[in-house]
Amino acid sequence: MNPYWLEDPVPARTNGRRDGRVDVAIVGAGVTGCSAALRLAEAGLRVRVHDRRGIAEGASGRNGGFALRGGAARYDVARETYGADESRALWRWTEETLDRMEELAGDALRRPGSYRLAADEEERESIRAEFEALDEDGFGAEWIDEFPRFHGAIHHLRDGTIQPARFVRRLATRAAEAGVEFREHDPVEDVGALDAERVLVATDGYGRALVPELADAIWPARGQVVVSEPLDRVLYDRPHYARQGFDYWQQLPDRRLLLGGFRDVSIMDELTDVEEMTPSIQASLERFLSELSGGAARISHRWAGIFALTQDMLPLVGPVPGRDAVWIAAGYSGHGNVMGFGCGRLVADAMLDRRHELSSVFDPGRMAA
Ligand SMILES: Cc1cc2nc3c(=O)[nH]c(=O)nc-3n(C[C@H](O)[C@H](O)[C@H](O)COP(=O)(O)OP(=O)(O)OC[C@H]3O[C@@H](n4cnc5c(N)ncnc54)[C@H](O)[C@@H]3O)c2cc1C
Repeated sequence: MNPYWLEDPVPARTNGRRDGRVDVAIVGAGVTGCSAALRLAEAGLRVRVHDRRGIAEGASGRNGGFALRGGAARYDVARETYGADESRALWRWTEETLDRMEELAGDALRRPGSYRLAADEEERESIRAEFEALDEDGFGAEWIDEFPRFHGAIHHLRDGTIQPARFVRRLATRAAEAGVEFREHDPVEDVGALDAERVLVATDGYGRALVPELADAIWPARGQVVVSEPLDRVLYDRPHYARQGFDYWQQLPDRRLLLGGFRDVSIMDELTDVEEMTPSIQASLERFLSELSGGAARISHRWAGIFALTQDMLPLVGPVPGRDAVWIAAGYSGHGNVMGFGCGRLVADAMLDRRHELSSVFDPGRMAA
């Protein structure tokens, strides 16, 4: 079955045409590649994007549609691990990135907030620590002490829900208008063979073979999602997620329930870039869907997708160590909707010699040491 998001009508696009050598060739036409392409073309560079599938047909059209602020780690843990200033800068930057996405997205993004739920008392303690750290640093959030069937929640007031394929296809249309040439269904085997001054690898969990130097730093992981037929009423008015994000669900504007996760049912099997569904995880999703809907929901769509985890849960954004003129932006650890858009811009800016305060935090060199 096709991902629900990809059934959206594909907008008309007049492709830019670039004969011969370009300033930047980008591999990957997901949110990262399209965001970077737009930014580079707006700065006047000649850009060509290659994808072995169509635009947004990788993880950017196969995800859960959550558009959350923050990194993949909890904020209190991030402060201890990455440092207080770095974490504050990272969280603030994701909030600004969401604001920027909202300006571009039209009806592809809504911001109803999200609920980060505690599934048991232990998780309640950890999300309470996160809430206190956020509150201390002035990141608005509400604590909900009692939440039906759960053990408390953080309400992130300005989080969003995105139709990711619609958003990315719109980005591609803008990029094409700015002169970017898209070559879809065009697999790249060797970045050195591209006719370009510089190459940006934007393949998140799919393209490890292109940069073998970072193969140990980018761990592909599989996620599985199901979507139901429309329900007759609204049960969930914003994205919900629990158990460290292992379970996540939301109700879409047409009242379908989307839910995903349960990677921990067979966590080692899910560390793969083989994009296929598995009976054990699908069975867990079916059971949970039935629970969430009171038995009312019938599944209309199911799919798998691949994303990339990193050891420190921070992306790799910048020049690939030891390579001349090859750059990367990848490894969002399951938070690529906002981080991918932001890192596409950030890597484009770095290629234009405009360094961001987070450039050193995301530097791929930290993994190659
Ligand atoms: C099931 C699932 C649920 C998720 N849920 C969420 C969520 O709710 N919120 C969130 O923020 N994030 C979520 N993520 C993560 C998020 O989807 C990704 O991190 C993000 O889409 C990555 O975007 P990207 O553009 O970097 O990569 P992708 O969108 O994966 O694009 C990479 C592209 O590179 C192309 N490619 C790869 N190799 C080659 C090659 N050799 N030659 C040419 N092209 C190539 C692929 O075809 C693909 O189109 C989820 C991911 C999955 C799989």
